[in-house]
Amino acid sequence: MENIRNFSIIAHIDHGKSTLADRMLQLTKVVSDNNLREQTLDTLDIERERGITVKSQTAALPYTAKNGKEYLLNLVDTPGHVDFSYEVSRALASCEAAVLLVDASQGVEAQTVANLYLAMENDLEIVPVINKVDLPSADIDGVLEQIENELGLPAEEVILASGKTGIGIEDILEAIVERVPHPEGNEEEKVSALIFDATYDPYRGAVIHTRMFNGVLKPGDKIKFMFSGETYDIEEVGYFRIQREKRDSLKAGEVGYIIAGIKRVSDIKNGDTITLNSNPCEGPLSGFREVKPVVFSSFYPIASDDYEDLSQAMERLQLNDASLIYEKDTSSALGSGFRCGFLGLLHLEIIQQRLEREFNQSIIVTAPSVRYRFQMSDGSTVYIDNPVEYPDSTFIKQSEELYIRANIVLPAEYLGPIIKLCMERRGIQQNMNYIDKKRVELIFEIPLGEVMFDFYDQLKSMSRGYASFDYEILDYRDSDLVKVDILVSGERVDALSIIVHRSRSESRGRHMCERLKDTIPKQMFKVPIQAAISGKIIARETISAMRKDVLAKCYGGDVSRKRKLLEKQKKGKKRMKMVGNVEIPQEAFLAVLKTK
Ligand code: GDP
Ligand code: MG
Repeated sequence: MENIRNFSIIAHIDHGKSTLADRMLQLTKVVSDNNLREQTLDTLDIERERGITVKSQTAALPYTAKNGKEYLLNLVDTPGHVDFSYEVSRALASCEAAVLLVDASQGVEAQTVANLYLAMENDLEIVPVINKVDLPSADIDGVLEQIENELGLPAEEVILASGKTGIGIEDILEAIVERVPHPEGNEEEKVSALIFDATYDPYRGAVIHTRMFNGVLKPGDKIKFMFSGETYDIEEVGYFRIQREKRDSLKAGEVGYIIAGIKRVSDIKNGDTITLNSNPCEGPLSGFREVKPVVFSSFYPIASDDYEDLSQAMERLQLNDASLIYEKDTSSALGSGFRCGFLGLLHLEIIQQRLEREFNQSIIVTAPSVRYRFQMSDGSTVYIDNPVEYPDSTFIKQSEELYIRANIVLPAEYLGPIIKLCMERRGIQQNMNYIDKKRVELIFEIPLGEVMFDFYDQLKSMSRGYASFDYEILDYRDSDLVKVDILVSGERVDALSIIVHRSRSESRGRHMCERLKDTIPKQMFKVPIQAAISGKIIARETISAMRKDVLAKCYGGDVSRKRKLLEKQKKGKKRMKMVGNVEIPQEAFLAVLKTK
């Protein structure tokens, strides 16, 4: 155990964690130089495509230090985006140290600070690193000063590195060996191990990712999950080296996996403690903080008979993403589905894509909503996160919405438009200070519901990608809310209803009608699209009927063209949902959330 170090890499998004992790894999020969793809630890398709890390990954690195001794360094790569801080906190609970990266040209940003706090809450040793020192725009002195003044970390501990050129990587590994304490724990004591993640292998069942705190586990042992009380026989244990690598045992202090033929994934809970059935430990390890979803939305299978399939997919995905929360839900327009809670909008989008790609599900996602609070005239308090459940407005005494404290760091030149954006979203400016000559920190109190709708995208495009955004939840405040319904061909589509502030209802209603007009294809007949509050129409668009000669063309003589057209239609069908007599494409449900 003296020769084990468990650490993670934390940073603001894009400061180079995944690239640095790759270099470490290469230096310790876990992957050979010619097998190294960029961001090797980012294994999900979505991660590779978007260049962001969504899930924490684990790898065991064998390292011979300058003192001549062999070490086992367990690396956990973490996501940087605010939506995934839950993943970060789970990763950190299994470590003794955090390598804190700061981009040499960007300096300290919102998530640098937030992640540092998470690491400090977990009592981790911090190894500060200035990364990307190879950049011509690197401002090493300036960033050193920030690390000392804004983060309170001693400048002499800072290591200069570049994941691109490889400078400083060995220095970081040496610092981990020298400065970081080895894990505590005792192999002789009763087994206690923390479940910090899990995946599903169709052949082997659940694969538990665990950090051993005490004792030893090996194949044949009967383990018990303290939360569910279920027992299983271990089939295999091992380390992560990109792939799974079988071992004889997992010992106190180590990080690795357990396979025990677990097919019923509901038996496993992230944050639960594993012990030996025959000789259990006294109590569970302290788990993770409870997940608090802030964004809610419903998922429906495009074909109603795919509900069971979707149900199984959701269960397996939740195993790998404990921050996903869901329950059964029914919509009159869309049938059976699930009401889900997410940590943020990006989280929602990632879950949707993972369901489609990893689990082959075709789903409709309804407009995300936040949770609203209503004081009713009979004295009761009602919480609602689904516009469908909006109470009868005659019985509402007071409606309330959740505010956040938004922290935006941006280059000073974009200040004007971004303040304007925050004001449009009913934000109240609290503070503004210059971090240095070029960068400003803005503090706004803003209704969370306003941030849901296209705020982050706008912020990014207005600042050409340079503004960073972070927030914390404040409290519920009095508001003047209304429910806007959408009617397609006179029929209310419950899945499209939204709750908004009265002052914004008309523009949002009009915007939704326009977007639907753009995304719903022409039908054989005229289709009116309307937005209404309590039955009163506030906006209207009309999709004109398909022209006859367009149809006539399709029935012309060109066979191959006709076949192509039919194929295209068939493909399109899968992603269409019939609402009344109108076919609404899947994109329409998402399009209403975006500005043009
Ligand atoms: P992460 O979001 O923290 O995981 O960051 P990535 O490792 O995905 O890197 C973000 C971007 O910075 C990518 O385009 C990398 O190629 C680039 N990058 C990472 N490390 C370095 C470095 O040391 N020097 C330079 N110049 N670019 C880097
Ligand atoms: Mg990454």
